[in-house]
Amino acid sequence: MNPRVEVLIVGGGPTGLFLGSLLIQSGISCMILEQRTLATSHSRSIGIHPPALERLSKIGVVDEILSRGIQVSGGVAFVNGHKIGELSFKHCRPPFPFIVSLPQCETEAILEARLLELDASTLRRGVRVVRMEKSEKGVSVTALKNEVELCFEADYVVGCDGLNSVVRNLADIPFKGGTYPDTYVMGDFTDTTHLGNQAGIFLGRHGVVESFPLPGGLRRWVVKTDSQLENPEAALLRSLVSRRTGIEPDDSTCSMISSFSVSHFFADSMSKGRIILAGDAAHIVSPIGGQGMNLGWLDAFSLFEAFSLLKKEGWKNSAGLSDVFATYSSKRLASATTARKRSELNMWLGRGSKFGVLQQMVARVIFMPFLRRRFANQFTMRGLE
Ligand SMILES: Cc1cc2nc3c(=O)[nH]c(=O)nc-3n(C[C@H](O)[C@H](O)[C@H](O)COP(=O)(O)OP(=O)(O)OC[C@H]3O[C@@H](n4cnc5c(N)ncnc54)[C@H](O)[C@@H]3O)c2cc1C
Repeated sequence: MNPRVEVLIVGGGPTGLFLGSLLIQSGISCMILEQRTLATSHSRSIGIHPPALERLSKIGVVDEILSRGIQVSGGVAFVNGHKIGELSFKHCRPPFPFIVSLPQCETEAILEARLLELDASTLRRGVRVVRMEKSEKGVSVTALKNEVELCFEADYVVGCDGLNSVVRNLADIPFKGGTYPDTYVMGDFTDTTHLGNQAGIFLGRHGVVESFPLPGGLRRWVVKTDSQLENPEAALLRSLVSRRTGIEPDDSTCSMISSFSVSHFFADSMSKGRIILAGDAAHIVSPIGGQGMNLGWLDAFSLFEAFSLLKKEGWKNSAGLSDVFATYSSKRLASATTARKRSELNMWLGRGSKFGVLQQMVARVIFMPFLRRRFANQFTMRGLE
């Protein structure tokens, strides 16, 4: 029998790993069950925003993130090949007036190393949760490891298990949304631009191209496509970038390429009794704007504060209990809704064939000197804490 814990976390992605470290540090017993036997190697998400850095600093990982990542200092915008303006993050609130660019696999490795340093027994890999039942004192969870059943008991279960969350499904929490018409292809190449530490956004009638610096002299290119490409090749991405920006990435240096479609899904509630959701398990927003992973960390921190409050009350506050998690749920869903709207503005600006006068005007307004600071705050996820 596994030891009973106060909080059982399902899913050891960025959200679950961060929540685990926060709880251990504050003396709340927890365990993370992760179905994958090995850490992921895909670079997927790259942007770590200031509000997330402020919270990640509480578990002592920011120095490592800064030493491995690139500090993105701002962005340059082009419309139909002409530069329309620059936006700098340097006036954003200290101590992190920048976005850090680091592949998700590296960020997860840093988070996992910190968690193991705090308590090596917290993360159980190769364990897939399949059932969950209400028990006398909390929740009973059944999982499979090498097809052998394992049982766990916890006061609370947190589903940090991503888009297809088993926890959400077993708790019967509705997850509603839909897909957008937009599709993209992205790839990482050696950086051949003169953009340095700046992001580039190239708007025009063929569709948006976004570009971000990556560590190791690399640069990510994200290109809007008419439909989702199957098995995209580096040469095709290079030619799309070249046609729309005049910049020619070297396809022999491509270290990652994939295509994706985008959707939005929201849980009706992020809590139901002793079951709580966080991260992608609770809300999916379009990756255009790079906010999903950061939202998961903001959830994790907010949930940690709720658990700390409960612990202070001796865990016995059953009337207040639902209030703590109801407040968490409404606050975090409101924040994710704002993030969804911001990503929708980004996608609207990038729709090529419909790129008309209105979009050009909005793009120019964003980069107007007196509005730059406001939009710099939006692009760095301020207001979503
Ligand atoms: C192309 C692309 C680019 C992106 N770029 C950005 C970006 O720049 N910035 C940003 O903030 N976000 C970005 N995102 C979004 C980001 O990748 C996700 O929001 C983030 O990974 C969510 O983290 P999570 O921990 O909530 O869920 P996940 O990363 O999905 O982790 C869930 C974990 O739960 C485990 N699991 C699932 N089911 C079970 C089970 N039954 N039992 C045990 N374990 C289970 C899974 O194996 C997984 O490890 C991007 C996404 C995509 C697709």
